[in-house]
Amino acid sequence: MAYDVVIGLEAHAQLLTASKMFCGCSTAFGAAPNTQTCPVCLGMPGVLPVINRKAVEFAIRTGLALNCTIAPMNRFARKNYFYPDLPKGYQISQYELPICQDGWMEIGENGTAKRIRIRRAHLEEDAGKNLHTGIAGASHVDLNRAGTPLLEIVTEPDMRSPDEAVAYLKTLRDILMYLGVCDGNMEEGSLRCEPNLSLRLVGSKELGTKVELKNINSFKFVKAAMEYEIKRQTKVLDEGGKVVQETRLWDPEKGETAVMRSKEEAHDYRYFPDPDLVPLRIATEMVEEVRKTLPEMPEAMRKRFVKEYGLTEYDAGVMTADKDVAWLFEQTVAKQTESVGVSGEVLGKETGNWIMVEVLALLKKIEAGEDQAKVKAAFAIAGSPLSPEKLAELLLMKRKGEISGPIAKTVLEEMFHTGKSAAEIVKAKGLTQVSDEGALEKIVDEVMARNQQQVLQYRSGKEQVFGFFVGQVMKASGGKANPAKVNELLKRKLAG
Ligand SMILES: [Zn+2]
Repeated sequence: MAYDVVIGLEAHAQLLTASKMFCGCSTAFGAAPNTQTCPVCLGMPGVLPVINRKAVEFAIRTGLALNCTIAPMNRFARKNYFYPDLPKGYQISQYELPICQDGWMEIGENGTAKRIRIRRAHLEEDAGKNLHTGIAGASHVDLNRAGTPLLEIVTEPDMRSPDEAVAYLKTLRDILMYLGVCDGNMEEGSLRCEPNLSLRLVGSKELGTKVELKNINSFKFVKAAMEYEIKRQTKVLDEGGKVVQETRLWDPEKGETAVMRSKEEAHDYRYFPDPDLVPLRIATEMVEEVRKTLPEMPEAMRKRFVKEYGLTEYDAGVMTADKDVAWLFEQTVAKQTESVGVSGEVLGKETGNWIMVEVLALLKKIEAGEDQAKVKAAFAIAGSPLSPEKLAELLLMKRKGEISGPIAKTVLEEMFHTGKSAAEIVKAKGLTQVSDEGALEKIVDEVMARNQQQVLQYRSGKEQVFGFFVGQVMKASGGKANPAKVNELLKRKLAG
């Protein structure tokens, strides 16, 4: 039988507020267990929650970026269930009046753009964490995370393949990070996703029974879990069986999903308005204030980079995948334009190539090692060893022929490790490109004298040895010779 795949996604984004959703405790990741707690987030009787204004602002910010309507009237509800990491016995969430409703987001490149509808996004609090790694098989609970603000973003079932679902998730992550409302770290659980997936016969309008997937902490696993689930459900249906509505856990070790629990219905939670929190009214003025502070979104930036800097779609995509890289690129171009008066389009291509090939490769190389903190610092704006000013200086030296391409790469690495400027490094190490004809002639003569046989080969028509001579001269000059001049000289001298 042939089936259509229908996927919807729920994503939980931890909001980057300094304090928790309803108390003043810190939300920083990685502190000693239970050190970031207070009577409110420990669920003690008689305490009163207070709504975090910043979390509300972040929710509005995200809602606007996702083209949602911001509800003027909000209500928080208690979602009742028991679990050891939930000391109150209920989670404060939003039920019938979520803060953001009826939005959409576009995924895919130009021409293949597809709109995914956002049903709702609502504010809630995170639960604590159970750790099953205790001594003698004991389990422990860490409540540092309990009460951390979450925004749950729910789509309509608009995706038709695991690839589309991953594209949606990547775009959502980019947007959240651009907005500065979530750090997007899936491994630390700051962004968690729960796809729901069902199959239906091709051509059928009715939705099949859906299965929800949990415990997924990377793009790779999202895709693998959905692909596994498609195979599993296809088999069930092909054999004449029925898919059971349930929640399944992804097991990355086994590469399969397993039943976690049968699907609960909304009424199982006995939602009711939280009597400790008054309804939250959001003034139009507040929404408009937030709208004014929205940054340019990655999609818009990508299009602008193609137009303004002459980048290809692909390059613009790489450059805007990370907002810090986009910033570095644009500022580096601007600094060069200021001092040489060459158009952004010419410099954009050069700078883009250099950042993509050299800077990102350098960061990757170092990231693979132990110097993670340093990589992060490289993009921190103040005092960065790779600030736009410093990169622009290096690129201009290369452009003016003061240093050769290979030397520029060495200098970049040195800049990164020492924080010194390109000019300082070039001066201290004597790396200035040699363009002086007399000096280069001397090196060329020496190389030719040492390789008489190859000279004869060249002169008897074996022109392939030309590259050998270029290499030898560059090597003899310690990479400092001006390649264009070397080519010119060699052509003349070898001709005899
Ligand atoms: Zn607290």
